[in-house]
Amino acid sequence: MSDHAAPDTAARIVHEILAHQRRTRDAGCDGDICPKCAAHHLDAVRQAVESGRPIEFVLPAFPTKSPNPAKVLGPLPDLAEELALRFLDSLGERIAALHEPGAVIRICSDGRVFNDLLGVPDHDVTAYVTGIDRMIKDIGARHLRQFTLDDVHPGSTHEGMRDLLSTGYAPTLDALREEVRAGGAPLAMYRGITRFMLEDLSGPQWTGTRSALQRKCRDLAYRVIQRSRAWGDLLLELFPAAVRLSIHPQPCSTGKIGILLADTPDAWLTPWHSVVVDTGDGFTLMKRAEAEAAGAVLRHVDGRPSHYVLAPAASRAA
Ligand SMILES: [Zn+2]
Repeated sequence: MSDHAAPDTAARIVHEILAHQRRTRDAGCDGDICPKCAAHHLDAVRQAVESGRPIEFVLPAFPTKSPNPAKVLGPLPDLAEELALRFLDSLGERIAALHEPGAVIRICSDGRVFNDLLGVPDHDVTAYVTGIDRMIKDIGARHLRQFTLDDVHPGSTHEGMRDLLSTGYAPTLDALREEVRAGGAPLAMYRGITRFMLEDLSGPQWTGTRSALQRKCRDLAYRVIQRSRAWGDLLLELFPAAVRLSIHPQPCSTGKIGILLADTPDAWLTPWHSVVVDTGDGFTLMKRAEAEAAGAVLRHVDGRPSHYVLAPAASRAA
């Protein structure tokens, strides 16, 4: 694989990305920067470097805020999204320092793909996407673009877009159930998403039994995975040369590189399922109710709720 004595530009770029890799438990990787994962993505990066193009990435992420007020501050992006966008743009900057044309990290916002399953209204998705676009501009990000299902089917109704996506690309539920039954990464993904659905839907609006809710969430998790898979396959068709990133932990040497968007003790916690807490030692993500229970104080920026601050006394209290 390496016909160069020193790591070439493409290899150094891949190492920059893998420094933020998020792996499944027992991923099968070697060392901090896994040579097997590096080799898997080197060709795509090398082709872009050799042809003088920006390195292209697709990242299905930034869907919409969780509808659960115990987890987030509301439907609009806040400091949690801003920090994640700044992190992604800084990754683009580091790539630009190695490769002058830089990087294009296409945030493939997937809220419209499954918001109906989460009970999130379409206008909340639109407001979130608009907020992310504004934030990309406001922070002066040079390497970030946003791409949504609305860009694929301009003029269609939101319901119509989702139907076109499912009809064209979704795997069957039976096929997905078989994958999950086989264990490994698909099972971990299914469990992670079921857990999020349970948290998101177990608010006071749920009036049925706990076991009925669990059944509903297991069913919804399959449908979310079905639509996500369809979205991923469509993106592969639209951006075949791009390096595929994921916010979910990935096993070794797969088609996608899992990356960590924020410092968080829970590998499944994302900026849109949580709030930012300034602990004095840095920023971390927590569920809103946990931040409030820890005594964190809400801060507003430009008149809007932004994040929480944990006073040193409160953070040290035993
Ligand atoms: Zn690996």
